[in-house]
Parts: sequence; structure tokens; C-alpha cells
Amino acid sequence: MEILRTVAELRQWSREERNDGGNTIGLVPTMGALHAGHASLIRAAVRSVGFVAVSIFVNPTQFGPNEDYAVYPRTFDADCALAKIEGADVIFAPTVEELYPAGAATFVEVEGLSNRLDGASRPGHFRGVSTVVAKLMIASEADRAFFGQKDAAQVSVLRRMVSDLRLATEIVVCPIIRELDGLALSSRNMYLHGTERSQALTLSRVIRQTEAMVAAGERRASALIEAARKAFAAEPEIRVDYIELVNWATLEPVETALPGSLFAVAAWVGSTRLIDNTLMA
Ligand code: AMP
Repeated sequence: MEILRTVAELRQWSREERNDGGNTIGLVPTMGALHAGHASLIRAAVRSVGFVAVSIFVNPTQFGPNEDYAVYPRTFDADCALAKIEGADVIFAPTVEELYPAGAATFVEVEGLSNRLDGASRPGHFRGVSTVVAKLMIASEADRAFFGQKDAAQVSVLRRMVSDLRLATEIVVCPIIRELDGLALSSRNMYLHGTERSQALTLSRVIRQTEAMVAAGERRASALIEAARKAFAAEPEIRVDYIELVNWATLEPVETALPGSLFAVAAWVGSTRLIDNTLMA
């Protein structure tokens, strides 16, 4: 498994593999610190396309000034080993200067959507995400890019971007991978210490509670959100960021849970911000 460092190398690799028998190219964008959630995306890509590039890049533009860019876990050697085991063909691991050349002044901003859910509490976050993913899609010329439903608002923003920019990369969304006790896997789970790990389970408990209410026929946003708020209130150590029922495509709030609605939560456990969600069938 080769490690590519420059955009030119990635583009050349993609063109060579594609021409070698009309193969399709897959891209799995990550920030590294790979876990079983990332592994599931790589496996989905390997099943779906001829050649798979996994990008590992802690993207500075998607972190706010007081966020965890400097301390974000970096486990490059272990990441390469995992990607290789899962069948990735190349790793793309550029420097910051490679993706953001000195004086870079071009950004991709999906208006409206970028200010909702996580974008509301993390100003500029989705602008950084859409900019880096556009760069990765353009550089890799990927036919398909694989993302986790875990970051559901990110998926909405990126789908809009691909559609608006008429990019040639199809977005494939993969299910949320969880620990046995329900906690959605996240590179940031490494930050949870002591009792925070069990407090963090409140998010997945709220998601399961919501799913159970919907299965029992409750579809009113007000009732689902109120029940979630109560469940969080029982854990005073947790600070809720948002609890929302939205249309997954527009991220606009909806009053009734219908197929295509997204119930999403974000909360601070100590200094760690966690997210979780469920899609209505
Ligand atoms: P990150 O490295 O956190 O930027 O995530 C890279 C990709 O992995 C994104 O598309 C995430 O949605 C996806 N991902 C992260 N955690 C999970 C999970 N628990 N299950 C499925 N996909 C995930």
C-alpha cells in the first residue's frame, strides 16, 4: 500500500488505475485516528469500487480557534496498518501546505445549510469541511466518496456541494458503527476520562429512546425533543448543544417525524463534544 503525499501523485495514481481497464476509484476522507467506523467505510469502498484511496488529513480550516486541532489524536502508523488490512490501495497524507498553498484564498461555502446543527455552534466548521472535501474530490477524481451517517449534517452539506458544483463524485453514506454498549465510535472518544465514558452513553440512550417512541407511533417533534431533554436533564454533568428533528436534506426543523427526517443530538461531556443521530424510516 503506497503512501502519497502530493495532489499530483494522487491525481496520477487515480488516472493510471482508471485507465488500467476502466476501473472505478473510491475515496474515504478521514482525519486519521482510525477506528472501526472508518474501517467500515473502507470496507464499503473496497466492495463498491476498483481502487480505494483513504485520505488522512487533520484539516485545520474545520477547527475553530478554541477547538482541539493541536491535540487531535494523530496515530499515523496504526492508521496505515488498519487501512492496509481493510484493503485500501493507497493512503493520501498531504501536508497542510500541500492542500492549502501559501496565500490560498479559495473556499467552498454551502450557504444556509452550513449554519445549521453543528454549524450553528461551530462557526466556519462546514466551510472548512466542504473546502477540504472539494479539494480531495477534485484531486482524486473519485467516482464515489464514502462518509458515515454519524456526521449526518456533514453529509447534507456535502451532498448540496456536490450537486451545486456539479462534481462527478457520488456520495455513499454508511451506517453508524457503535461500541457494544451503544456509544457511537469517534476519534474524540479517546478524550473521555473516568465517569465521562458512562455519561457519554446518554447520547445513544436518547437515540434509542427516540427510536422506540417513533416505533410506538409518536411522531411529534415536540414530544420527541421534550423526552430527550428530560433524559439529558437526568445527567447534570452533560451540557446539551442541540436536540433537533430536521429534514435531512435541508436541515430545517420539521414538526413531524416522516421518512427522511433526521433526529440529531449534540452534547458536551466534560470538554468533549459528542454527536449522535437516527434517521426516520
Ligand atoms: P473523521 O475522521 O472523524 O473526520 O471521520 C471520517 C469519516 O468517518 C466521516 O465520514 C465520518 O462520518 C465517518 N465516521 C466517524 N465515526 C463513524 C462511526 N462511528 N460510524 C460510521 N462512520 C463514522
